[in-house]
Amino acid sequence: MKKTTYKTLIKKTFDEVCSLENNGDKASYIPELVKIDSNKFGVHITTVKSVKFGIGNYQEKFSIQSISKVFSLTLAYKILGEKLWNRVGVEPSGTAFNSLIQLEKDNGKPRNPFINSGAIVIADVLLSNLENPKEDLLDFIRNLSKNQDIQYNAKIAASEKSVSFRNIALCNLIKSLGNIENKPSDVLDFYFDICSLEATCEQLSELFIFLANNGSAMHNNSSIITKSQSKRINALMQTCGFYDESGEFAFKVGLPGKSGVGGGIIAIHPNKYAISVWSPKLNLKGNSYKGMLFLENFTTATTQSIF
Ligand code: GLU
Repeated sequence: MKKTTYKTLIKKTFDEVCSLENNGDKASYIPELVKIDSNKFGVHITTVKSVKFGIGNYQEKFSIQSISKVFSLTLAYKILGEKLWNRVGVEPSGTAFNSLIQLEKDNGKPRNPFINSGAIVIADVLLSNLENPKEDLLDFIRNLSKNQDIQYNAKIAASEKSVSFRNIALCNLIKSLGNIENKPSDVLDFYFDICSLEATCEQLSELFIFLANNGSAMHNNSSIITKSQSKRINALMQTCGFYDESGEFAFKVGLPGKSGVGGGIIAIHPNKYAISVWSPKLNLKGNSYKGMLFLENFTTATTQSIF
């Protein structure tokens, strides 16, 4: 698709969604996230042909929350290879992202790396394998698109920690079942840091373009992960990226993606583009209300999806 076509369709879809009622609620369980202006709305696309286009609040930083789970998974997969799947599964959970029930039945092996329990195990893998986990993960992310501006937000991490009773329970349960190697408090602190990462829509679509480019960075063509690993991460995003609404996202949008409770969504069209959307109000399943609508209308307008 031509540069002008993406630009025209994004503008048209953005205007359509802007004119609709802004339904839903912000994530209220993390106090800092409630302070965000509900009317923020931004979109940015980066294509494998180096087309870049943004609209709305696409240059404003927001809390990417669970979108960051794709970065920590990518680094853990790069380090452990297929052995990673002994620690965490690859099935949709069919339960809430912070559910404890399934974990006990599954003997401490989380269903997938994108529910909280799975991301906590991934944080543990990184703690065991990196010299300076917090700095090394940040360097890894920054180098995906040569963007030194990506940062953790200590205030958001502390805000989440102050109310994180379920995540503490999850980590302790997994530890008791033998699937956490490090001290639970260290694993959780690192997990909260990972969730506190901030980026703009523009930065996100640039950081994620490697998943549309068979695992290779665009700015220097270096291989970040193999083509097969990139396929598998996209597959996990397709089947598990939207909490208990992943089927709905596949059905309506038809692209792999990942959302976060900060109201951000990244979606990948392999071999074509990475597109990010941010609108803080969430639907009942915890996904950005307008973000979902925008992407549904956008892939309908382009008539392109992976299916
Ligand atoms: N930090 C959030 C939590 O653990 C992440 C939730 C999300 O974005 O899915 O509850």
